[in-house]
Amino acid sequence: MRLVVIGGVAAGLSAASRARRLDRSLDILVLEKGGVISYGACGLPYFIEGQVASFDELVVYTPEYFRRERAIEVRTGATVASIAHARRQVTLAGGERIAYDKLVIATGARPRCSGIEGASLPHVFTMQNAEDAQRLRSFLDQRQPRRAVVIGGGYIGLEAAGALRAQGLAVTLYCASPDLAGRDDDQLTGALTRHLERCRVEVRTGTAVNIIEPGRVLDTPCDMVLLAAGLEPNTELAAEAGIEIGRSGAIRTDDRLETNLGGIFAAGDCAQTRHIVTGSPAWIPRGTTANKMGRIAGANAVGGRERFAGVVGTSMVRVCGLAVAFTGLSAAQARNEGFQPVTARVEAKDRAKYFRARPTSVELVADARSRRLLGATVIGEWEVAGRINVVATALTRGMTVEDLENLDLAYAPPYAPVWDPLLLAAQQLLRNLR
Ligand SMILES: Cc1cc2nc3c(=O)[nH]c(=O)nc-3n(C[C@H](O)[C@H](O)[C@H](O)COP(=O)(O)OP(=O)(O)OC[C@H]3O[C@@H](n4cnc5c(N)ncnc54)[C@H](O)[C@@H]3O)c2cc1C
Repeated sequence: MRLVVIGGVAAGLSAASRARRLDRSLDILVLEKGGVISYGACGLPYFIEGQVASFDELVVYTPEYFRRERAIEVRTGATVASIAHARRQVTLAGGERIAYDKLVIATGARPRCSGIEGASLPHVFTMQNAEDAQRLRSFLDQRQPRRAVVIGGGYIGLEAAGALRAQGLAVTLYCASPDLAGRDDDQLTGALTRHLERCRVEVRTGTAVNIIEPGRVLDTPCDMVLLAAGLEPNTELAAEAGIEIGRSGAIRTDDRLETNLGGIFAAGDCAQTRHIVTGSPAWIPRGTTANKMGRIAGANAVGGRERFAGVVGTSMVRVCGLAVAFTGLSAAQARNEGFQPVTARVEAKDRAKYFRARPTSVELVADARSRRLLGATVIGEWEVAGRINVVATALTRGMTVEDLENLDLAYAPPYAPVWDPLLLAAQQLLRNLR
């Protein structure tokens, strides 16, 4: 039996590796159109800012490693042009046909560039994959630009703005939406805007860019442009093969990650999932999710019966030294979903005062009717991941505010204050719920 996997990064290689672990005799072939596999795309901003000195540090495994250690064949420069499921065959761009018994589609996502005139000018960059990052880093090293415009205020745009500031460029960030970080949350956008402006990044939210000119974007002169105006899932290959696309625009699967064509699975940024808080279909492309979905698709492709439970939308980003994390729904999102949101926000210290404590802010959202937690935002310099992960766990288990208030969270002066900011926020939320 042969498993073919399309895409050689997080989801694709997780699928191939899990399938190998469960079935030693399977023939496994991974087809990747790019030249590099298994790298940490999440590390690209740190390569751009210079904290990661060489791109090679981001590469986890090579095709040779997969061949030698896992008996998985990986072909780079192999673009799948079509899938003929009736014949169980994929065709490569050069015309070569490859047979499969089971197929995992893990084709990822790409930056949205349509509708922006000038997006292919030579001084315009994206930061999505290995090639993009290497091209951008060479431009920075060789041309030493002084002024950059970043188009897009989602997490990639925010990270790019921070990386380019760290390289000493003057940065202006345009964002078509009034919100930053892709979250309908005024407090979060306000805090991020103030922080970016303190770091001398000019922020223009609510300003759509439709045209990039050679030396300027709108009224901002610049030497380079970083385009990060959103992502779209790579679904064309699947759609042309007759695979259903979901409401979110990504590939629709069941909870075993199998598509409507039996024997074809989809995982990672190209696939739709389910939001655990709302129960609705969602597309929230993240590396964590891609790895988990890949493992499950790989197991099920070799006969497993594993389920992917869905996501609560946990995200974290570092913006010019500040960690911003959120999970679940903001109050505005909760209202749109038909909940009756009540919020509480506390400004507290992230550890004992005498241990160089830094300010941190926690906002919690709960539903007034059920008292169930719906979401949270944590902003600070330290201990942000731990706090958002507690709320992500609470959301996954459907916990109430009382459940959170009663949690036995750790305390030691160097790491947390005796009243953790999460518990203070839960107490405040209970008062607001009365
Ligand atoms: C700058 C940046 C920072 C990020 N930071 C974070 C972070 O901090 N935390 C987090 O959770 N996530 C982060 N992410 C997101 C994370 O990297 C992605 O969610 C993850 O890489 C998705 O994995 P994937 O395997 O689904 O898709 P991808 O990594 O996009 O891989 C898909 C692969 O499929 C290949 N492919 C596509 N079509 C074909 C075809 N027809 N034939 C053959 N091959 C094909 C592509 O070349 C690509 O290599 C970041 C992403 C970027 C770009």
